[in-house]
Amino acid sequence: MNFIDLRSDTVTNPTDKMREAMFKAEVGDDVYGDDPTMKALEEYAAKICDKEAALFVPSGTFGNQLALFTHCNRGNEVLLGEDCHILMHEVGASSVIAGVQLRTIKSHKGEMDSKEIELKIREENIHFPETGLICMENAHSNGRVLSLENMSKIYNIAKEHNIPVHLDGARLFNAAAYLNVESKEITKYCDSVMFCVSKGLCAPIGSLLVGNKDFINKARKKRKLMGGGLRQCGILAAAGIIALKDMTKRVKEDNENAKLLGKELSKIPGIKVNLEDIHINMVFFNIDETGYDKLKFVEELYKKGIKINAEEDGFIRFVTHYWISKKHILYIIESIKEILSK
Ligand SMILES: *Cc1c(COP(=O)(O)O)cnc(C)c1O
Repeated sequence: MNFIDLRSDTVTNPTDKMREAMFKAEVGDDVYGDDPTMKALEEYAAKICDKEAALFVPSGTFGNQLALFTHCNRGNEVLLGEDCHILMHEVGASSVIAGVQLRTIKSHKGEMDSKEIELKIREENIHFPETGLICMENAHSNGRVLSLENMSKIYNIAKEHNIPVHLDGARLFNAAAYLNVESKEITKYCDSVMFCVSKGLCAPIGSLLVGNKDFINKARKKRKLMGGGLRQCGILAAAGIIALKDMTKRVKEDNENAKLLGKELSKIPGIKVNLEDIHINMVFFNIDETGYDKLKFVEELYKKGIKINAEEDGFIRFVTHYWISKKHILYIIESIKEILSK
């Protein structure tokens, strides 16, 4: 059975064009610097972020944690949003790998107040850790996009205090599509950025960590330390290049499809959708007022060929992507109406 899979955009299989490019990719041992396809991907990734260099990593988590590990010394303090992915969904890695302390900033739907950040930057004092890094997340995993104004305020304060800024841009291109700007308009407010090619861009594996040459050279060595020195990875880079050249142009469709899905869901009695929070390809809603059993909801949709995740923190999340069309959305809506009417 061909499922309609709304669990995440990480479920996207590579396209036929990617598979063909992977099959034909020219490769070499990338730890020796011999893989021309990987070099091409890294150069292109740096270029579209308007930075000097880039490094392929196995996953988004790997890229974020490598950024912390490279920017910071052990015992440094990292300032980041209380609801960000690095804190909430990366298995506590920052305490294991970089050995840093995370200090949270209040999140206003994903945006941090630059004044609060300034207050939390450490002075020199024998009792204090040093503030080693500030992290932002855009698009945010709550489905919203930070404004460029918010990013620029935070970046300027960081620069005044000589602190580097890392951007978790797992869905950077969805954010760029929402803001209707090129990705470099977002990445100019950070010193390093991680983005995923393995999510809505359909590549099977990988993320890129991007920054200046010195930072990427250090990160390359630490990537090896973490076991992420890959050999003939041009096979993966071939798909990544198509992800960045072709697929970034179409993620706005996913954003639009999420809006449509949200709008149609909101018309179903008892379903509550935060329509104004649908900036990218994610729809959060709850079905409390329908009175329908939540586990049964997952099971019934499964029977209709639709895979969804169980509720988390009071919300069900649907994610649109390359393999979800408008036709699928109408079928999803019809299926939900049918399930709830029983
Ligand atoms: C998915 C995601 C990551 C991590 O990516 P993985 O490849 O799943 O490790 C990091 N940050 C954000 C905001 C994400 O959505």
